[in-house]
Amino acid sequence: MVTEPVSIEQCVYFTNRTIGNGKVTAWVYKQKCQKCGKSLMSKPKDTKGKIKIRAKEYICESCGYTIPEDEYEESLNVEIIYECPHCGNKGEAVVPFKRKKVQILDEETGKKSSVEVLRFQCSKCNNNIDITKKMKGV
Ligand SMILES: [Zn+2]
Ligand SMILES: [Zn+2]
Repeated sequence: MVTEPVSIEQCVYFTNRTIGNGKVTAWVYKQKCQKCGKSLMSKPKDTKGKIKIRAKEYICESCGYTIPEDEYEESLNVEIIYECPHCGNKGEAVVPFKRKKVQILDEETGKKSSVEVLRFQCSKCNNNIDITKKMKGV
């Protein structure tokens, strides 16, 4: 069973979107520091207390332990609630927070392009459901 977050503050990643005839809500919880277990690992803050979204590492506020972004994110799981765009099945899924590159066809331009997706399978029809990484300005 997945548990929906109360606030996106608890999450490294959160998305809620329509995919074709289906719907997906997906999130990744921040995890506690592996060293001291006191604080949630977060992006560092600047001197004014604003989170540095583009930082390439996560830091523990309690003990200062830092871990590279990629390494940290690959250790996390994505929790998903979905309505399958292929068969309409409603379900839940938990998969590693690892994006893979896939080729997609842009229906407007007819061109193929490479995008990063979080891919999981519908538990009923076994078709792939892809959550594409959001592009700038979309
Ligand atoms: Zn710590
Ligand atoms: Zn399905």
